[in-house]
Amino acid sequence: MENRGKLVVVSGFSGAGKGTLMKELLKQHRDDYALSVSATTRAPRPGEEEGVAYFFVSTEKFEAMIADDELVEYAQYVGNYYGTPKAYVEKQLALGKSVILEIEIQGALKIKEKFPDAVLMFVTAPDAKELYDRLIGRGTETADVINARLSRAAQESAGIESYDYLVVNDTVEQGADLIHRLINGERLGNTDDFLQNRVSSNTDFINQIRNELNSFLKGEQS
Ligand code: 5GP
Repeated sequence: MENRGKLVVVSGFSGAGKGTLMKELLKQHRDDYALSVSATTRAPRPGEEEGVAYFFVSTEKFEAMIADDELVEYAQYVGNYYGTPKAYVEKQLALGKSVILEIEIQGALKIKEKFPDAVLMFVTAPDAKELYDRLIGRGTETADVINARLSRAAQESAGIESYDYLVVNDTVEQGADLIHRLINGERLGNTDDFLQNRVSSNTDFINQIRNELNSFLKGEQS
């Protein structure tokens, strides 16, 4: 059992730094993990490479993938399809690697339903203010986009209770290390050390983030 890889879902608010965390995790433990590359119908952003960031496909192609049962899960997010190709996930799990799916909440819930052993992690910045600052810090977003993302974050925060662990992303090294230790704990059945990281142990913190997100939203809208 010990050599079997885990299926790991990582979700989090836009601006929580998931992508950077995953890069760091793979840098530190290249042999342990495989990062699933999703298919999407959204257009590539500058710098996004085909087959690295995503497999960029047409809506027709995506719908054919659904019909042919080639996806483990898929969801629609802000007008586009996103889905996890099945073949890669199955192959990497069979090789003993833990496979990371960086997906949004609807997909995460489908994964939990299909694979009850999957580990679901929710990544957040230390507080809503930090989240807000990180979004603005990108310098690329208009006030409308920031507001839309905050609104989406507030909406997604309603689903955090479906996740197993909360990862507070303070520094990248520490966040990546925590994710690695949580996955190992799950793989080895050694979860008692991580009770404080469970979502159910962090309800006060989660409620605080929710309230802060909502008050930022109100501030933005008035
Ligand atoms: P973005 O367009 O910013 O790259 O991604 C939008 C959202 O879609 C993010 O929350 C991302 O995690 C999620 N996402 C990316 N790939 C998948 C996927 O294969 N399935 C699902 N359900 N969500 C995905």
